[in-house]
Amino acid sequence: MRKLMAGNWKMYKGPAETLAFFDRFEAPDGVDVVVCPPFVSLEAAVGEEWPIYAQNVHWAEEGAFTGEISAAMLVEIGVRGALVGHSERRQYFGETDESVRARAEAALEAGLQVIACVGESAAEREGGLTEQVLERQVAVLPRHPDLVIAYEPVWAIGTGKTATPETAQEAHALIKSLHDTRVLYGGSVKPGNAAALLAQPSIDGALVGGASLDPDSFSELCRIA
Ligand code: 13P
Repeated sequence: MRKLMAGNWKMYKGPAETLAFFDRFEAPDGVDVVVCPPFVSLEAAVGEEWPIYAQNVHWAEEGAFTGEISAAMLVEIGVRGALVGHSERRQYFGETDESVRARAEAALEAGLQVIACVGESAAEREGGLTEQVLERQVAVLPRHPDLVIAYEPVWAIGTGKTATPETAQEAHALIKSLHDTRVLYGGSVKPGNAAALLAQPSIDGALVGGASLDPDSFSELCRIA
C-alpha cells in the first residue's frame, strides 16, 4: 500500500514562507503527501500540487463560535481535509473525545478527508494505561473510508524521543484491530529514524511536525517512504 506522509506545520509559516517552502519541496510519485499549514496560509498553499489540509475544523456549519472555521469554509477555498484531535489541541485548548468526534463527523459530512490523532501521555504509558487510552480515543471516531488515524504518543512529540519501531508497531496493531484504517505514526519522525518506523507492517505513513518545516528534510522523508 502507498505510504501517506503528512506535514503538520503547527503555528509556523505565514503565506510568504508557505510559498517559499513549495518552491523547494519535491516528492516522488509513489507516495501520498499532505501538508497542513496554519489557517491563514491555506489559500497560498491550495494552488500547489499536493492536497492541503487544515489543522482543525469546527463541527457547526456556521454560528457564534469566535475563532473557529467550518468545514464548508475550508471546502470553499479548496482545502481537502483536516486534522482533528491533535494532542496539542487536547492539552492546551480543551479538546475532548466528544469534540474530536464532532469535528471529525462534520468534516467527513462536508466531504473533507480527516486525520484523527490519538496517543497516550508519558504518565498514562508509565501507569500501564496505553491500551485503555487508545481504545477510548479510537472508540469515538467515525467508521469512514476517508478517515485516517495518526498514532502520536504525547511523550514523543517535539521531544526527540521517538517510539521504537516495536513500540509503535504494537500500538498501531492495537489501533488497527479497533478501526480498519490507515494508521500514521507521529512523534519526532526524522530522516534518520523514518525508514525503520515505516518498515513496520502496521505503520502506513507518518505525521511529521518539526521535520516537515524544512522543504529539504520533508522531501527526504517522502523519498524514504
Ligand atoms: P514532531 O515531529 O515535531 O515531534 O511533531 C509531531 C506532531 O505532533 C505532528 O502532528
